[in-house]
Amino acid sequence: MRVLVIGGAGYIGSHMVKRLGAAGFAVVTLDNLSSGRREAATYGEFVEGDLGDRDLLDDLFSAAKFDGVMHFAAHIEVAESVGNPEKYYRNNVASTLVLLEAMRAHSVNHLVFSSSAAVYGEPRRERIDENHPAEPVNPYGRSKLMVEHILRDFEAAYGLRSMRLRYFNAAGADPGGPIGPCHEPGTHLVPLVLRAASGRLPRITVFGVDYDTPDGTCVRDYVHVNDLCEAHMLALRALWDGAPGAAFNLGNGNGFSVLEVIKAARTVTGRPVPSRVAPRRPGDPARLVSDSTRAATELGWRPRHPELETIIAHAWGWERVLCARVDHASCH
Ligand code: UDP
Repeated sequence: MRVLVIGGAGYIGSHMVKRLGAAGFAVVTLDNLSSGRREAATYGEFVEGDLGDRDLLDDLFSAAKFDGVMHFAAHIEVAESVGNPEKYYRNNVASTLVLLEAMRAHSVNHLVFSSSAAVYGEPRRERIDENHPAEPVNPYGRSKLMVEHILRDFEAAYGLRSMRLRYFNAAGADPGGPIGPCHEPGTHLVPLVLRAASGRLPRITVFGVDYDTPDGTCVRDYVHVNDLCEAHMLALRALWDGAPGAAFNLGNGNGFSVLEVIKAARTVTGRPVPSRVAPRRPGDPARLVSDSTRAATELGWRPRHPELETIIAHAWGWERVLCARVDHASCH
């Protein structure tokens, strides 16, 4: 089986490429290297290019038959999407439409799409299942929801079946290396907290301590990147087995506040994590915690690393690699 991984040089995509390679699939990575790193795609063939480049997609799909596409190539920063929505709608929506047109033209009918818990917006329930209203509160979430609508319509009209995987907060790294979150400096909590622990960052900034949560900081559901990849494998196999497209939440169902993540990082690393408080970041919902029962029952998904400490420990392994690589003067 041959799989095209778009965004395979990025954080989650690079873990997927490794996983697909280990499972014996033929893998082609397409990545424009806007945020990914060439060396992160550790298996198969690599093509540098953009998913909005129709000629390139036509060449790829004409050159070989693909049994499925996994699409990770998105801009993902909530605050940036608030300030620069055009960038988000251009890449995440318009370029994805180009991909879908090309898939249709070449009869490539199976897609696993990286969606997000950001499609839900402000939660109305303790845990969010897939039937929760989808009312995103930022352009990033809206861009993901727009693609989900397009995918449903393409499935109904053209038979292009897609699994829409709504990630909660991806974190951690493959303990076998040599890959991990690749955004430098990045905006995500776990890598930044660990950068503060290693000394590469003077301190972590806590965005908002006045949320309606137990300690006033935002609550998120952190899920191990390799567990996300396992869900992609299951989703693709389900498509191959003839399952209709569907949306699936991917999270562990446990919420941790920003302060709890910092505390866990102190425990795991045995190091201080200096912090300071700042105002809320635009676009952040107070609490996002998943009910992932559907992925468990319909895909058979069982996260192997649901514990926050394990996720942080694996992310710490990657931070140590980065520290050694950059030989940062303040790394300790
Ligand atoms: N956050 C923070 N300081 C940072 C980065 C993130 O306090 O330097 C908070 C952020 O406001 C959010 C949570 O950590 O409540 C998770 O943010 P992240 O960017 O990791 O993921 P998101 O939930 O935005 O996808």
